[in-house]
Amino acid sequence: MINLLGLDRKAMESFFVSIDEKPYRAQQVLQWIHTNGIQDFDAMSNLSKVLRQKLAAAAHIALPQVIYENAASDGTYKWLLKLNDGNCIETVFIPERTRGTLCISSQVGCILNCDFCSTGKQGFNRNLTTAEIIAQLWIASRTQKITNVVMMGMGEPLLNLDNVVPALNLMLDDYAYGLSKRRVTVSTAGVIPAMYQLKERVDVALAVSLHAPNDELRNKIVPLNKKYPLKELMTVCRGYFNDNRRSVMMEYVMLAGVNDTPDHAKQLVRLLQGVRAKMNLIPFNPFPHTEYQRSDTDTIFRFRDILMKAGLNTTIRRTRGDEFNAACGQLVGQVQDRTRRSQRLKEKIGEST
Ligand code: SAH
Repeated sequence: MINLLGLDRKAMESFFVSIDEKPYRAQQVLQWIHTNGIQDFDAMSNLSKVLRQKLAAAAHIALPQVIYENAASDGTYKWLLKLNDGNCIETVFIPERTRGTLCISSQVGCILNCDFCSTGKQGFNRNLTTAEIIAQLWIASRTQKITNVVMMGMGEPLLNLDNVVPALNLMLDDYAYGLSKRRVTVSTAGVIPAMYQLKERVDVALAVSLHAPNDELRNKIVPLNKKYPLKELMTVCRGYFNDNRRSVMMEYVMLAGVNDTPDHAKQLVRLLQGVRAKMNLIPFNPFPHTEYQRSDTDTIFRFRDILMKAGLNTTIRRTRGDEFNAACGQLVGQVQDRTRRSQRLKEKIGEST
């Protein structure tokens, strides 16, 4: 049985052709599934009874199981979803005055092992399927008004590009979620070859987890930097958007005494020369057994002021959801059988550490 939830427009059209139906049926069914949240073919009233029966015999619309959902006092909302194989992932909704942002996971765990991120400490199990990625938006959309999606949950989206791209297509498709390309953001620690591919395959906003202004420090806190160093990362960022109005969002977690001195800020200014970038400073969110601490507020403001004076547009991310471990870097889900697969994937991307 094929799960129609994971098919973008093109794949849905091929599916209909494969069962001897007209490709335009794809639009109708996408709209039922994603815009209207319908799982039952019988409720798809603009399809003939015969077609509905045919669909029910060949396909289904299968979602992960919501095993926990909860709202924090700041309005942040978190879902824990159980996948077919027992793994669990987390999705977070962050309401603001003028928008509602959904933070989506792309993998069970993460292989990159950034020192300050608790997802990384959980190890890695597997990539999410397109259906599992888009299911997070499907489920959240049933109760929340979502205007923005950020691929900033568990995992590195660019190490799962083949499943992430069709999910992005669905987010942008007017017959599914119809989100604006400026309101769908992929965040990456800097998987350079996949950044070039993403640029070719789908037009969305880009965020880069920078976190350090020089290779020596970045090698330590974002080990992927050893494979894809800053100079090459800046080259991709410089050429990423063809139109002059869009910039790359640089995320920078503020770690007390590690990357937050005025000198680091000055190095950042030099590094970002000629790159159309917006800086987003993220106060570190602690988790059990971490050796890091959040920079204090004065330090963060001083850091921001240096960047602003140098002409870098800089914002400070408001910490949301940390009362129930839903803040950046605190998503852990439940990763099964993590070490074995982690090793296999590391071999695949040629990480030696
Ligand atoms: N792997 C992708 C997607 C994860 S996005 C990436 O690296 O971009 C999650 C964002 O939160 C990243 O910028 C990540 O570096 C940041 N982050 C991770 N742990 C954090 C923590 N403990 N406190 C604050 N931000 C954190």
